[in-house]
Amino acid sequence: MTNRREFIARTGVALLALMAGGAPLSAATAGGVYRVRSGDTLGDIAHRHGVSVAALKQANRLSSDRILVGQKLVIPSDIAYVVRSGDTLGSIAVRNGVTLTALKVRNNLSSDRILVGQKLYIPAGAIQPAAAPAHSSAVLAGVVAATSRLNIRRGRWTHVVVHHSGIEAGNAKAYDGAHRRRGMTNGLAYDFVIGNGRDSGDGEIEIGPRWHQQLDGGHVRSDYYNAHGIGICLVGNFEKRRPGATQLASLTALIDWLRDEAPLGTKPKFTVHRWVDKNHTVCPGRHFPYARFKARYA
Ligand SMILES: [Zn+2]
Repeated sequence: MTNRREFIARTGVALLALMAGGAPLSAATAGGVYRVRSGDTLGDIAHRHGVSVAALKQANRLSSDRILVGQKLVIPSDIAYVVRSGDTLGSIAVRNGVTLTALKVRNNLSSDRILVGQKLYIPAGAIQPAAAPAHSSAVLAGVVAATSRLNIRRGRWTHVVVHHSGIEAGNAKAYDGAHRRRGMTNGLAYDFVIGNGRDSGDGEIEIGPRWHQQLDGGHVRSDYYNAHGIGICLVGNFEKRRPGATQLASLTALIDWLRDEAPLGTKPKFTVHRWVDKNHTVCPGRHFPYARFKARYA
């Protein structure tokens, strides 16, 4: 699904939020452009507009909190979403990392009842970034050890590209075999596969031969992203269900490590298959929590 952003006037919504017991922060967002004045900090500006610092940084592609007087900042506006069959208000809230209360307040809903085709707004200022994992060092031990033995060309890896496998069965070995049978002589198209607990551990990170040999990937149509994007595949079909919490925690741990600690000489940007190969795939599926990952890696 494309996240269409719209500018919406929302006078009086903050008051409603207070009346409904919701956090006023979640409801005071207003789209627009703000010009930085002397003495402003990113935190002040975010607070004044009722958005999170992460959302503000994401909307303006800022990698640090540094801003300059006179700089124009886009204030993020809410994300429009059309309810589909099978959605519940709770599932929409979880997927987008907002509370049920924030979602109801933003959309003036007095009950949890929603209808297919109904238009909702996800309050941009209320989106919580994807959570940090609890035991990342144990999950990453194999990856850290294997990577320390590699000779990585500094500056090469500019992106991480997230995928789902589209099926519930399988692991790195099974997909490696399938990709070889499809004529990919380097085998498994991804660098890493994160299990769902069926044919590998829930949240287990398996390392593919291409990472060990530092070969180009085969996971997208784009040559650039195969050469410069680290392919990470989550086992499962996220068109049909949500990814599990353990799987997402491992994904977060792996991307955190690749960005902040791995010897890459880059801080690879987060992207997903459907954003790279536009109009060719739904991968990693409609239930992947895009907003939460965008917020974390803004
Ligand atoms: Zn994919």
